[in-house]
Order: sequence, then C-alpha cells, then structure tokens
Amino acid sequence: MVVVGASVSGVRAAQALRREGYAGRIVLVGDEQVLPYDKPPLSKQYLTGHYDEAKLQLLSWEEAASIGVELRLGVEARALDTAHRRLELSDTSSVDYGACVVATGAKARPSPWAARSGVHVLRTRADSDRLRASLRAGRSVVVIGAGFIGAEATAAATSLGCEVTIVDPLRSPAARVVGDAVAPLLEGVHARHGVTTRFGVGAAWVEGEEGRIEVGLTDGSVLRADAALVGIGAVPNDAWLAGSGLTVDDGVVCDEFCRAVGVDDVWCAGDVARWLHLGHGETTRVEHWTNAVEQAGCVAHNIAHPDGLRPHRPVEYVWSDQYDWKIQIVGRPQRAAAHELLGDPERTPPRWAALFAAEDGRLEGAVSVNWPRASVDCRRLAASGARLSDAVAAVSQLAAALGR
Ligand SMILES: Cc1cc2nc3c(=O)[nH]c(=O)nc-3n(C[C@H](O)[C@H](O)[C@H](O)COP(=O)(O)OP(=O)(O)OC[C@H]3O[C@@H](n4cnc5c(N)ncnc54)[C@H](O)[C@@H]3O)c2cc1C
Repeated sequence: MVVVGASVSGVRAAQALRREGYAGRIVLVGDEQVLPYDKPPLSKQYLTGHYDEAKLQLLSWEEAASIGVELRLGVEARALDTAHRRLELSDTSSVDYGACVVATGAKARPSPWAARSGVHVLRTRADSDRLRASLRAGRSVVVIGAGFIGAEATAAATSLGCEVTIVDPLRSPAARVVGDAVAPLLEGVHARHGVTTRFGVGAAWVEGEEGRIEVGLTDGSVLRADAALVGIGAVPNDAWLAGSGLTVDDGVVCDEFCRAVGVDDVWCAGDVARWLHLGHGETTRVEHWTNAVEQAGCVAHNIAHPDGLRPHRPVEYVWSDQYDWKIQIVGRPQRAAAHELLGDPERTPPRWAALFAAEDGRLEGAVSVNWPRASVDCRRLAASGARLSDAVAAVSQLAAALGR
C-alpha cells in the first residue's frame, strides 16, 4: 500500500488501514521535509503565536513505527504508472504498490501579481511562519479575498494590533457559502473589530515590496500597506497525475466509494478527491478538515473490506474561528429554499443558529455562531433526513435549556 501525501488525509488513511485490519506494508510519501502537521491552526492561534507547536504534529516517527508505517518525507511523487502499479518519486526511486491512496491535497492559488516581496499566501506551516513575521503591531496589511482563510487571517492580524483592510470582489462574500439571508450577520464582524472592508471591489494589481506594498483596486483606488495576503482559494495537487490514466478534472474523479474512475486500485481522500456524492447526485470536491478525516476512514474501510464497500455520503461540515466567534456550517445552506433563525445575534458574544430547509422541507444545512451543540445536533438531524420543523424544535429545546 502506498499513500501519497502526508498530511491529515494521508496520515488518517494509513492509521485507519491498520485499524481496519490491513496487515500489509504501508509506505507514506510526503514532499514536505517536516513531520506531518495539521493546518487549521495556521490561520488562527498558530498565526498569533498562541499555540503549542507540538499540538500541530499529526504523526511522529515513533507513532509511525509503532503501527508499521514507513515514512518517506521530503520526496515528491512525480508520476503514477497504473499499468505497472508503480509510483515514481523525485529521488529517482520508485515504489511498487498493490493499492494506492492519493491524498495530495491542494495548494494556495498563487498570487497572479508580481511584487518583489511582502505578498503572502497561506497554506503551509512555512507560509504561516513567514506571514507571522510580517504581522507586527502598528503595521498595515491588505487581505485580498474574504473566504475562510482571508477572514481568519484578518482576525488574527487585528488581534496582533495590525491595521487591516479586507478586499473582495463580491458585495457579500459570505453569501458564497451561507447564502444571502444570513451572510450580513457574519460579515459585520470585521467592521466591529475596526477592520476596513472593501467588498464589491476587486484587486487589479499589486506592486512594491515588504513595507511598501500598493494594491490597486478595480474602482481605481489604491491601498498602501506594509504587507498583503492573497487568499483567493486553493487548487488541487493533481498535475503530477497527468498521463496516469486517472480522470483529473479539478481533482481526481472518483466513484461513490472514493475509487478513482478509469483504473484499478487507486483511491482518493481529502482536498484532492472529486467523488460522486450520492446525496447530491454529482461529483463534489470539498476542502474541509472533517471531510479529509472521514473520507480517509471510508477509503481505508473500502480497501480493507472489498466485499462491503461503503459510499462516502457525508453531510458536509466546516468550522471557522474569527475574533471571539466560532462559526460552524453544516450541509449546503446556500442552496436552501427557506430558513429559520434561532438564538440571539445581538448578544455579546452572539449565539445563534440559522437552520435551512430544502424545497421538500428537509433540513438542508445550518449556520451557527458560538453554539457548537446546535451544530452537532443539526448535522446529525440532516444526516437522518429530519424535517426543518423537527430541527427547529430540537434546537429550541437547547435554547430553552441554556436560558434556564
Ligand atoms: C490555513 C488553513 C486553515 C484551515 N482551517 C480550516 C478550518 O478551520 N476548518 C476546516 O474544516 N478546514 C480548514 N482548513 C482545510 C483543511 O486543513 C484541509 O481540508 C485539509 O488540510 C486537507 O487535508 P489533505 O490531507 O487532503 O490535504 P493537504 O492538507 O493539502 O495535504 C496534502 C499533502 O500532500 C503533499 N503533497 C502534495 N503533492 C505531493 C506530491 N506530488 N508528492 C508528495 N506529497 C505531495 C502536500 O505537500 C501536503 O503535505 C484549513 C486549511 C488551511 C490551509
């Protein structure tokens, strides 16, 4: 067994294979020199320096040895020869495999602008270290892109005493994920913390160097700052699979069991996988931590139990920490037909949940702020096909219990 990509989905796949009883050789290949580490804190507590570095680590040499996983770090997978079941590596060696798990994730979409220095992206631990060095109190930062990474980095930079401007071409950037109805409840958080928001206007060019960055906007205005962060999304690490026979289309296309279509014995997990989600009736690629973990578990099960294949059919879940808000999103709220708002957005800090229904009345998703229990319940209820009215009753009971 060879697992390509040594981050959360690769590590969890290797560990789950052992738990599922797989007894053969497992080689885990990763192109980063450092031991596998987790990413969510990189735009949150790790970026502000409030995180125990040891907690980032996903696997030690000792843990790998104890479950019989051979770690090959600092080598890049260059090609997959599916006809001969051989993985070619950057150090000119190769690994023959019986089955392969592709877990090569995604990388930050590179900045399209040429500035000499001072323009950052945020995907790896090294990116976070570089950005942190730029975020000293009193410095100014322009964040381009108000997705999760941009919004979290904005909150982190603000807490470090930086003066932050966040820019996004959409008038309501959060609506991409949570829909128009509740997006304004989320977007107000930046202005409340003294951040300048420039939504509805895009970045046209970025020039200069660390300490003297200029960001030209599409309305003709120019922002001046000490540094900029470009948070304009991620692209799957699938280019190395060209010529492998796998179907690659913004991720590796897989069936509902996360098995790559077109070849035998190749499976995918995490940000690089585009699999057939039976609940949505279409292929889906998800860049969420919980999906990486759950999909790795599903793949390991399916490899170890070929006679009992399970489809990967999750209700999506993602969280984001911004300022003193824990935002949790379940399912696909942006597709919903109706919603109900529970809790109190005006409270300090706020605690509320918006529950969304599909056209047939079933719970389609939920967005909550500072209410983890509501989020957990909604994910469970959405998975069981509950109706919006049942979910509203369940979450109202939680609210009543909290109020007592
Ligand atoms: C800063 C940041 C914050 C995040 N915060 C959250 C959050 O709050 N909540 C949430 O749900 N999700 C969050 N995410 C998303 C979550 O971390 C990802 O979904 C998760 O990391 C995906 O794991 P993965 O193993 O599939 O891919 P990755 O984490 O991208 O790891 C892939 C690994 O494969 C390696 N690799 C790539 N190509 C090759 C190759 N050819 N050969 C060998 N190795 C290769 C890469 O270097 C990397 O080590 C965050 C992501 C980032 C970047």
